[in-house]
Amino acid sequence: MSHKPGRPFLHIPGPTNVPLPILAATARPTIDHRSAEFGRLGREVLAGIRTIFKTRNPVLIYAASGTAGWEAALLNTLSPGDRVLMYETGQFATLWARMARKLGLEPEFLKGDWRSAVDVAAIEARLAEDRAHAVKAVCIVHNETATGTLSDVAGVRAALDRTGHPALLMVDTISSLASTDYRHDEWGVDVTVGGSQKGLMLPPGLAFNAVSDKALAAAKQARLARAYFDWEDMLAINETGYFPTTPAVNLLFGLKVAIETLHAEGLDAVFARHARAAAATRRAVRHWGLELQCRDEAQASPTVTAVRMPDGVSADAFRAEVLERFNLTLGGGLGPLADRVFRIGHIGDFNDLTIAAVLSGVEMGLRLAGVPHRAGGADAAQRVLAGETEMLRAAE
Ligand code: PLP
Repeated sequence: MSHKPGRPFLHIPGPTNVPLPILAATARPTIDHRSAEFGRLGREVLAGIRTIFKTRNPVLIYAASGTAGWEAALLNTLSPGDRVLMYETGQFATLWARMARKLGLEPEFLKGDWRSAVDVAAIEARLAEDRAHAVKAVCIVHNETATGTLSDVAGVRAALDRTGHPALLMVDTISSLASTDYRHDEWGVDVTVGGSQKGLMLPPGLAFNAVSDKALAAAKQARLARAYFDWEDMLAINETGYFPTTPAVNLLFGLKVAIETLHAEGLDAVFARHARAAAATRRAVRHWGLELQCRDEAQASPTVTAVRMPDGVSADAFRAEVLERFNLTLGGGLGPLADRVFRIGHIGDFNDLTIAAVLSGVEMGLRLAGVPHRAGGADAAQRVLAGETEMLRAAE
């Protein structure tokens, strides 16, 4: 048996660290999913999860990974050959577009540079051109986990409204939900897709669809074939707190505690904690003299920071060194960014001291791996975490 002393530091942008009370809840003995006790749990989590998406409408919960949430969103609302407008923020937007094509839809994929958020003006221009309303849905990734950019969902809603375009708005919040501000109802989103393993601090295994009345109406006309993911069957039985098939009972035990945990801290405090961690991380990166994958800091993600390695330096060799030496797991580059970037996840269950430790681990790793950098980034980040941002700016 091999043993690594000390606590493992899991700092990929999901799955995230599961706090002990949530883990303990998932370890309870499983119960009968048709029992009265389960009905109470089902009603509680189905109501509670709405407060996280900020919606008064139903949220569907599937036993599946986040990708299934994309699939359910498309299948329930669209018909074969429908045009969907998507924007290439990075790997996850690319995968969603690829899925749309596989399902028999016609994705129109607006070109992005994998370093920027959704270009709202480009979406608006395309919608304005589409006088025949051939586009049936606009699908965007709120937080592009591959590149560390956050997009303006309310801005895209406003673009739809300004052009008077009736397309549905679908948003992937898999790596932003419960970690940065998100308002399904207020932002007029028709389908919001979520997953359990990031801001919700649960193990992987649940996918979510929050839906609008307009999305529910579209589901009545939609002709893509669907079975397990059919909203109608699920919504009918969810009214009583039950599910049409065997739900992930133990993850739902955990979900109840996760929702309580988030509200105990307060959603705004949760969002502020993530924003502070992200600011501290970016402060360290700038000090080291490394480059962010996100080109404009105003678009930087609150949950993940992707850092570009200097030319000729392997990001994966650096990550391997950090894992071996400090038991700190960082995220790798995805798709064309493989071995070119490393990603620091600051999402879910952490505090300021966790982030200070992670950034120390990264800095020690840079030194050990011989990556050219300016020492002192972790120290500069500590000052951001300690609330000295203004003083620090003044000193620069
Ligand atoms: N969308 C985003 C933004 C993600 O970060 C991920 C996973 O990291 C996915 C979709 C896919 O989710 P899953 O791997 O749970 O299927």
